[in-house]
This record gives sequence, C-alpha cells and structure tokens, in this order.
Amino acid sequence: MNFLRILSNHSVKLSLYQQIRFSSCWSCGKDAKPLVANLFCSNCNALQNPKKDDNYFTLMGVKETYDLDENELAKKYKELQKYLHPDKFANRQKEELEISEKYSSLVNDAYKTLLEPLARGIYMLRLRGKDMPENTELFDQEFLMKIMEKNEEVESAETEEEIMKLNKENKAMIKDLQKQLSRAFFDGDLKRVEKLLSYMKYYTSIDNQIQAAIRHKGIIR
Ligand SMILES: [Zn+2]
Repeated sequence: MNFLRILSNHSVKLSLYQQIRFSSCWSCGKDAKPLVANLFCSNCNALQNPKKDDNYFTLMGVKETYDLDENELAKKYKELQKYLHPDKFANRQKEELEISEKYSSLVNDAYKTLLEPLARGIYMLRLRGKDMPENTELFDQEFLMKIMEKNEEVESAETEEEIMKLNKENKAMIKDLQKQLSRAFFDGDLKRVEKLLSYMKYYTSIDNQIQAAIRHKGIIR
C-alpha cells in the first residue's frame, strides 16, 4: 500500500517536472514538446534554447555518472552537432542562428569536459558544491617523491621502448585512479574525491609530458 502511494506520488512529481521542463516555445508560444533530441518545437520546428536547469550530462543526454560510456558520449555529441551546426540556420530566423551558436559552443564545452577523466571529476565535484583545492597540502611526502621520480624518468627516457613503457604504466595508473574515483563518487565521499583528483592532476600532467615526448620522437602507434 505504502509502495503504491510512493509510486503515485512519484508520477505526480514527474508530470509536474515535465511541464516545467517543456516550457512554451519562444517562437510560436505553444506548449509543444521539443522533438529530435529535444531540440526543436514540435509545432513550428524552431530550435529551442538549452534548458536552464541542464548540466553537462543532461545537456548531452548521457547518464550522470563518473563511469560514463565514452563511445555513447561521442555518439551523442556527433548527433547534437549535426542538428546544431550554425550553418544549418543561415536561412532561418536570426534568433535561431543565435541559439544554435550558443547551444553548439555549450555542447562543445560539455563534450570536452565530460570526455576527459580529470575535467569530468572536477566538474562533478563542482556540481556537488565544491571546488578543487589549488594547493598541495593534500599530499604526503611519499607521493611528492614518487611524482618527482616519475618526472625525471620521463625526462631521461630516450628510446621508444622506454617511453612506451612509461606510457603504459602511467595510463594504467590513471585508469586505476578512475576506478577509485568512481567508487568515491558512488559513496559520496567528497574528501576522498578531492584527494584522488589531485593525484590524477599530477598523473595527467605526466601523461601530457609523455605524449609530447612521443610526438617529439615521431613514434607511430
Ligand atoms: Zn514553436
């Protein structure tokens, strides 16, 4: 009985939410449901503004989780940009052209942020009301030593074999941190999220260094 009540309350809330979400079209004023990836008015076909309560996840139409499916994200990105490209609005109303420019640059930012494991984590932390701490007070001496050693190793790596070995190790390190981050977000342990993200910041900068070395040496993978 209680369960049924919860279910019916839930559906009431959901329909209210939808009414707010699908507000009336700026162009024709009708309360029409947006079609095609929620972008266009089903009555007059005008491109709609992004919703005010959208975050990068809802904007891209992907599940809000640290473990997001990168292939799905890329698919959604291509689909959205196909519809939003400002060239498609050159002969439409001026307002639609402006919305498409604003919307597609927002989609670009969302895609870049969510695709990159470090940026995604920092963004998710911010959605939970916290900014990434700038300082290094989170680190123990041991970690700082380890990072300094890694830096030196990358700098002194000369052969393709050495560089590719470091690359493999560092990628594995980042993958492992991603797994731990996913767990910490799931547990809602934001202190741990901060700590893991600051580790990841360092391994990501080592990754950038390694990728630069790979390009510099002209290694083809
Ligand atoms: Zn309309």
